[in-house]
Amino acid sequence: MSEKIIKYIGTPLEIIQEKPEMVVKWPRTLMHMHTYGKLSKFFQELKKGKLFATYCSNQDCEEKRLWLPPRADCPDCNQPTSWIEVPNPVVGKIYTFTKVEYPGEGIELEYPYFQIDVDLGPQFATIFKGYLLYGKPHIGMKVVAGFRIYNPTNTILDIFWVPKK
Ligand SMILES: [Zn+2]
Repeated sequence: MSEKIIKYIGTPLEIIQEKPEMVVKWPRTLMHMHTYGKLSKFFQELKKGKLFATYCSNQDCEEKRLWLPPRADCPDCNQPTSWIEVPNPVVGKIYTFTKVEYPGEGIELEYPYFQIDVDLGPQFATIFKGYLLYGKPHIGMKVVAGFRIYNPTNTILDIFWVPKK
């Protein structure tokens, strides 16, 4: 009776260099299944050109401002939030910004680009992060939300900002 011999079924890695240390090219792919969970509505509405925030509908909660990006549960009282549409056009002003020279994995934008933090007013508990589609930002500059309703990415990149004329 013979023992089964375990065979190597892979493809040998390509050697990039041998010295001073050995380096090999190790290709990897990754499929990440990601759920938007209770925030699905937010992404579904972006594709329709609509921006939805959440608010706490617990009458005993002191936080009455809107959450954007939305929170499924109120950070203050931990109760489920409710949805509300932010009326179009959505206008905000740039709270701060940065020039992104090297975006991370998953940000499929041409770079450099300007990442902006948008202040939507005192009715919001949050500063909303996004990117400027064109133009040069400055703090306090008014911007208007735009939506990628044609060929949506199904990511947060489906909302962008342009300078307000
Ligand atoms: Zn609450």
